[in-house]
Amino acid sequence: MKIFISADMEGATGVVQGVQTHHAEKEYVFGCKMQLHDVNAVIEGALDAGTDEILVNDAHARMTNLNIEEMSFDSRVRLLTGSPKPLSMVQGFESSDVAFFVGYHAKAGTPRAVLDHTISGGVVYSIFLNGKEMGETGLNAAVCAQKDIPVGLVTGDLAVCAEAKELMGDALVTACVKTAHTRMSADCLLPEESAKVLKTAAAEAVERTRARKSPCVDIGDGRFELLLTFHNSGQCDQAATIPGTERIDGRTVRVTGSDMVTMRRWTVALISLGGR
Ligand SMILES: [Zn+2]
Repeated sequence: MKIFISADMEGATGVVQGVQTHHAEKEYVFGCKMQLHDVNAVIEGALDAGTDEILVNDAHARMTNLNIEEMSFDSRVRLLTGSPKPLSMVQGFESSDVAFFVGYHAKAGTPRAVLDHTISGGVVYSIFLNGKEMGETGLNAAVCAQKDIPVGLVTGDLAVCAEAKELMGDALVTACVKTAHTRMSADCLLPEESAKVLKTAAAEAVERTRARKSPCVDIGDGRFELLLTFHNSGQCDQAATIPGTERIDGRTVRVTGSDMVTMRRWTVALISLGGR
């Protein structure tokens, strides 16, 4: 079995504040350490359960957060690091048997959710796919579903676990490492305990995938309409310069397509241009 791990940081053990996730802040060292902690725990659980190959895609911000020297060494594991990447958080997912989303967070606007946002907190107000508001979990799961690759595991705070189960049902394994009290505070498991929880969940996700029980998110009939609403009209002005976009109001552009890989590339392009 080949596993693709998309590793974000906001949902990692003990991480609760933006400064812990931003490279220019001194607290960033802690964020990196905890992202690595959670990724290593998931890798160990998956390898113990008999995984043949794991590709970890560093999926947070500049995507150079995971220290390759500190990753649990095993010849079956590789790291995809750096940016930009056309498919961003799901770059390299193709040809996997299952995807794991580690250190994830809830979509923008979720109450009692650690550092809730959708792809880029300062740029995106909301993203709707075929009429349903989607966060990173939903969008990335939809890309995987395009190639019939299920999601086996989602880890992060209680809010992202609930969001993921709402999208994919109870067959999905989730691992909760913290429960938010507010956007920047949470009741957290200690690292030793969260490592056990993550390891066990990863092993269970491997078993469920083997039994063909890991879920794909429903992507309907293969026609997609994506509405991206920016925080302000200036950001939308930038994004709407791309031919093929349709400006539907001051802050929103609309794009359509027939496959999720292209739709996800649209989000990458619109957000990078809008965020300039
Ligand atoms: Zn992130």
